[in-house]
Amino acid sequence: MSSTRPARRSYQAAGLSAARACCSPPGCSLHAEPSSSIRDVQFCTVSIMKRKDVSLATKMALIHAMAVPITIDGCGRKKVLIVYAHQEPKSLNGSLKTAAVKELTKQGCSVTVSDLYGMQFEPRATRKDITGDLHNPEQFNYGVESWEAYKNGRLSEDLIEEQRKVEEADLVIFQFPLYWFSMPAIMKGWLDRVFVQGFAHNFPQCYESGLLKNKLALLSFTTGGDQGMYSDDGVSGNIRYLLWPMQHGIMHFCGLSILAPHICFAPEYAPEEERAQMLTSWVERLKTIWEEEPIDCTPEWYYK
Ligand SMILES: Cc1cc2nc3c(=O)[nH]c(=O)nc-3n(C[C@H](O)[C@H](O)[C@H](O)COP(=O)(O)OP(=O)(O)OC[C@H]3O[C@@H](n4cnc5c(N)ncnc54)[C@H](O)[C@@H]3O)c2cc1C
Repeated sequence: MSSTRPARRSYQAAGLSAARACCSPPGCSLHAEPSSSIRDVQFCTVSIMKRKDVSLATKMALIHAMAVPITIDGCGRKKVLIVYAHQEPKSLNGSLKTAAVKELTKQGCSVTVSDLYGMQFEPRATRKDITGDLHNPEQFNYGVESWEAYKNGRLSEDLIEEQRKVEEADLVIFQFPLYWFSMPAIMKGWLDRVFVQGFAHNFPQCYESGLLKNKLALLSFTTGGDQGMYSDDGVSGNIRYLLWPMQHGIMHFCGLSILAPHICFAPEYAPEEERAQMLTSWVERLKTIWEEEPIDCTPEWYYK
C-alpha cells in the first residue's frame, strides 16, 4: 500500500486543485485533500461539464485527473479505520472488531485497526507530544502548542501516524465498551491527542465545515446496562443523551458525518445465542454500510 501512496497523492492533489479552480464556487464540496470522496468527485464532474468557458479537452483532462486517485487504489475501494479499545481479544468487543475486519475486507475495503491497548497508546496530552522548541516556553498551553506543532510538522511520531490513518479513512469505526457513560480513557486520550487544531478543526472550520468532513464516523459499543435501563423511562435515561458529547461534541465538531450508532446491550448477561446474534446483526449491518445516510446530528435527534 505504501508504494502507491506518493503517486496517488500527487495525482489527487493536482486533479483536485485544478478541479477546484475550475468548478468552485458555487457549491463545490472539494475542499479536503487528499481524502475527498467519490461523491465529491461526481459532484465536481457535473460542475465541470456544465462550464461553457472551459474547453472539452480541459474538461476531460480534469475529470481524468480526479478519477485517478479513485481508480489507482483498487477501483474506489473504501478505507476503514477501526479505533479499538478493549484489553481482551476474546471479549465481545474483540469479536465485534474481528468480525468487522473480516466482513469489510471481504467487501474489498482496506481496513486498518488501531488497537489502543495492544499498541500501549499514550492517552495523556503532554509536552512530550511536541518535538523541538515550544512556541511559548514560559507558559505551556497544550492547545496552542499542539496546533503550532501540527502546522510545523513537529508533532510526535505516534500522532503523525494516527493522523495519517484518519486522513486516509473514508469511515472511522470506534469500537469500545461503555465506561462511565462515555468511552474508555485510552480512546478519549486518542481523540485529545490526534484530533488537534489545524488537523481536525480550526475555528470557524468546525461542524459542517470541520476539517474531517467527507468522512464518516460510527460508534460501535457494548454496555453493562440493559436496553430497558437506557430507555426514556429507564433509570439511566435514553442512550441518545450520552451520545451527544461523543457524536456531536467531538465527531461532528470535527466535520465527520455520523452514522447511527451500533449498540450491543448487556452482553455479559445475555445467553450465548443472543450474543452470537449480536455478532450476526453487526455483520449484516456492515454488508450495506456504504448505502447508509448519516443521522441528522441536531439536538432533536438526541433529546426529542
Ligand atoms: C470502568 C468501567 C465503567 C463502566 N461504566 C459503565 C457505564 O457507565 N454504563 C454501562 O452500561 N456499563 C458500564 N460498564 C460496563 C461495561 O460497559 C461492560 O462490562 C462492557 O460493555 C461489556 O463488554 P465486553 O466486551 O467487555 O464484554 P465481555 O465480558 O468481554 O463479553 C461478554 C461475553 O461475551 C462472550 N463472547 C465474546 N465473543 C463472543 C462471540 N463471538 N460469540 C458469543 N459470545 C462471545 C465473552 O466470552 C463473554 O462471556 C463499565 C465497566 C467498567 C470496567
